[in-house]
Amino acid sequence: MSTRRLMIGILVVCNLGLYTCNYIKTKKERDTIQERKSMRLPDAPPKTLTMEEQCGARVKQLRGKLDGSFQFVVAPPFVVAGDMDHPQLEKHTLWSVVKPAKALWTSYFKRRPDQVITVLLFSGQKSYRKWASALFGHKDVSYFGYYTDENRTLVMDINTGGGTLIHELTHALIVYDFPNVPQWFNEGLASLHEGCRVGEKEIVGVLNWRLPILQKAIASKKLRSIKELTLDEDFYGAHVDENYAQARYLMMYAQKKGVLATLYRNMRDNGGKLSDYQVLTRVFGGKAEQLESEFIEWAQTLVLPR
Ligand SMILES: [Zn+2]
Repeated sequence: MSTRRLMIGILVVCNLGLYTCNYIKTKKERDTIQERKSMRLPDAPPKTLTMEEQCGARVKQLRGKLDGSFQFVVAPPFVVAGDMDHPQLEKHTLWSVVKPAKALWTSYFKRRPDQVITVLLFSGQKSYRKWASALFGHKDVSYFGYYTDENRTLVMDINTGGGTLIHELTHALIVYDFPNVPQWFNEGLASLHEGCRVGEKEIVGVLNWRLPILQKAIASKKLRSIKELTLDEDFYGAHVDENYAQARYLMMYAQKKGVLATLYRNMRDNGGKLSDYQVLTRVFGGKAEQLESEFIEWAQTLVLPR
């Protein structure tokens, strides 16, 4: 029922002098809804402000909603807030936000954000779930963390590790440089970075837990071709786990061949002229069948360190 109709209903009831209890109950409900809404984090400040002004205004908004257990670090375009001590928050900001972002800009992304990106780091599931619900109304959230495009915000349980943060950071930054990035490529590049080494100028994906999923699919002959992966319009559908594993290791294969940056640029600048698969095969030397078989052969040689 709309608030207007509800108000009219209440006025009618009051005038008749009836159903007083019902009125109280309804008022309580209204107050609870109002209270929940007042906890919500407002939209990020407008991009008409300078980046420094946006960051300052965002910190103010966050201070108004979060409690006294939170610390803040500003590293434009990022505003990072976390319920931990300040040195710890600074460490996470440096190693899981600032350094990886610098490496991503150096290696891949030409256009940088013109809007503040909010990073919320929570020290445990309880606090993560509580604040995801209070600030955004997000209930059923992923175990590790997530990125929400509507407010350019990363929400993380940082106790689960920094890998997911760098995965989501890739999503948060790629949208400014490659707004129409296909799902398989976006998730492939982001998941490559969930296990990585971060240098001053480069970010290098390393083997991680998705490898056994890929190798199992290869061994049972259930892995689809790379062509099918690139044509799948629902990356998150029935083949989601294999899709992530295949896309991640395809990116790692490009990294090993020294063509990942070229692949990124060609994908971004293609402008719909070629299919994703045509771009891929060209970057890998032009022979589709060879790419399909060599990728499988290479993937089978990989061994996850214990
Ligand atoms: Zn992702």
